[in-house]
Amino acid sequence: MRQEVRCRKSEVRRRMSEVRSSIIARILRTSETFRLPESDLRHLTSGLLIFAAMTQVFLNRKISFRIANGHPWIFNNEVNRIEGEVTPGQTVEVYGHDKKFVGKGYINPQSQIIVRLLTRNKSEEINEQFFLDKIKQCWEYRQKTGYTENCRLVFGEADSMPQLIIDKFNDYFVIQTLALGIDVWKPAIVNALNTIFKPKGIYERNDVPVRELEGLPQQKGFLSAPFDTKIIINENGLKFYVDVENGQKTGYFLDQQDNRKAIQHIVKGADVLGAFTYTGTFEIHAAHYGAKSVLGLDISANAVQQANDNAALNGVGDRCKFEAANAFDVLKQWGKEGRQYDVVMLDPPAFTKSRETIQKAITGYKEINLRGMKLVKPGGFLVTSSCTNLVNPELFLQTIDMAAKDARRKIRQVCFQTQSSDHPIIWNLENTQYLKFLIVQVL
Ligand code: SAH
Repeated sequence: MRQEVRCRKSEVRRRMSEVRSSIIARILRTSETFRLPESDLRHLTSGLLIFAAMTQVFLNRKISFRIANGHPWIFNNEVNRIEGEVTPGQTVEVYGHDKKFVGKGYINPQSQIIVRLLTRNKSEEINEQFFLDKIKQCWEYRQKTGYTENCRLVFGEADSMPQLIIDKFNDYFVIQTLALGIDVWKPAIVNALNTIFKPKGIYERNDVPVRELEGLPQQKGFLSAPFDTKIIINENGLKFYVDVENGQKTGYFLDQQDNRKAIQHIVKGADVLGAFTYTGTFEIHAAHYGAKSVLGLDISANAVQQANDNAALNGVGDRCKFEAANAFDVLKQWGKEGRQYDVVMLDPPAFTKSRETIQKAITGYKEINLRGMKLVKPGGFLVTSSCTNLVNPELFLQTIDMAAKDARRKIRQVCFQTQSSDHPIIWNLENTQYLKFLIVQVL
C-alpha cells in the first residue's frame, strides 16, 4: 500500500514538472507580454506546482562565509550538485552540504552567479503575492525615511530583490530587470506597482549591456499605456526635466539628491565651475542657492541641451550656462591659463566595473581631482564624487589626498557623505555602498 502511494506521488511530481517546464518555456520564448490560459497561470502561482517539482541546489562542503553571512549570490564554483531539472530563470531551493536549508532564489546556469537568493525563509513562496508584499515593504521603508515623491523604490540586492531596480518619479516608474530570474517576474512586478500606486506610467529601461551576460536582450519601452516620456520632477524646491526614454540610466541620478543640498552655503556669491554635469542638477542648485555665475561642462550634447532647458525652467538661465566639452582636456587647459573659481564640482561616471582596471580608475580620479583643485582659489571649495563601487571610501579619500599633494595644496574636509537613504547600504554587501561625496576646502 505504502509503495503504491509513493509511486503515485512520483508520477504526480513528474507530470507537474513537465507542465511547469512547458509553461515556463513558453513564457521565456516570448519577448514582452505573454498570453496564457488562466488554468496555466493558476498552475504557476498556486505554489502546489512549485512544491511538487522544486529543484534543489546543494553547495560545497565549505559554505562560504559570504553566503552564510547573508550575501544573496551563489557562484557556479560554490555548487556541489543539483537535484532536479534546471529551467533557466526558475525558483530553486538551496541547501548546504549538510542538507540544511539556505534559501530560495532564481537560477541561471548561463550566468557566473548561478543562483541569486530571494528569501531565507523556507515557507515563503516565490509567487505574484511575494512581489506585491516585497514592493509594499520597500515603499514603507521609503515613506519612513522621507523619500516619497521621487525615490529609488527598489534597490536590488539591498531590498532583497536581486537585480531589480525601480525608480519612482512622482507618478511615473522606471524599471530595470537585470537578470533572467527577475525578468520572468516582470508582469508580477508591474501588477504590484499598479495595485499599490495606480501610476500614470511605467517604463522599462532594460537597454543595459549587463543583461547580455544573462542571455537577455537589451530593450526599452512602455509597460503601461504610452505617455509623454519627458516628465518634470521637483527636487529641493527646483524643477527638472527627466527623459525616462533617452536619458542616462533610468533618466535621473536620484542618489545625489541629498548631496545637492550640501552645497547650499559654500556657493553663495561664488563663481562656480561644474564638470560632468549631466542635466545640470548640481549647477542649478548652485545658482538657486545664490552663486554669482555657474558654468557647467558635459561631453554629451544632449545632456547639455537638457541642462540649459533645466536652467531656463528654473529661471536661472542668465547665471547658469552649460557647454559641451571633454572635462579632462578643458580643465587641464584652463589650469594652464590660470583660470580660478570659488567652487569646482566634479561628478564623473564610474571609471571601471572590473577589478583588473581599478588602478586605471584611481589614476583617472587622481588626474581629474588634481586638475579640479588647481582651478580652486585659495580658500575655495572642491565638491567631488565617485560612483565606482570598486573604489571604496578609504581608497577614494587616499586618492584625493594624493591629488592634493601633487597639486601642492592643503585641503580640509568639510563633509563626506554617501548616497541618499532610498539606496540603503547592507554591510558586507559591497555593491550597495558605492557613492562617495566629498567637499573639501582647498587652502
Ligand atoms: N552630476 C550629475 C550626474 C553626472 S553623470 C547629476 O547629479 O545628475 C556623469 C556625466 O559625465 C554624464 O552626463 C556623462 O555624459 C559625463 N561625461 C563622461 N565623460 C565625460 C568627459 N570626459 N567630459 C565631460 N563629461 C563627461
